[in-house]
Amino acid sequence: MDIAYNFEKSKDTDEIHIFQGTYSKLKVTYRQDTKSICKKKDAVKAERIPDTECLNESQARYTAAHLGRTVCGKCVKSLYKTEKD
Ligand SMILES: [Zn+2]
Repeated sequence: MDIAYNFEKSKDTDEIHIFQGTYSKLKVTYRQDTKSICKKKDAVKAERIPDTECLNESQARYTAAHLGRTVCGKCVKSLYKTEKD
């Protein structure tokens, strides 16, 4: 199982949150957490940003940097942690 990331943009606040999930290459299945990393946003598939699905960690970092300040700081911060606290 690999960790994979998705980006979703909240329709209400325009803020982008990051969701963590697990991706299995073997079975090609993807499981996403029901809450964003910061726990502030519920998963709404329709709010996913195209081309930001199932990214690995380095891709997610790049995407977050590219999207800039509209991405939730708490979510972004977690991409730079090496271990869970
Ligand atoms: Zn967030």
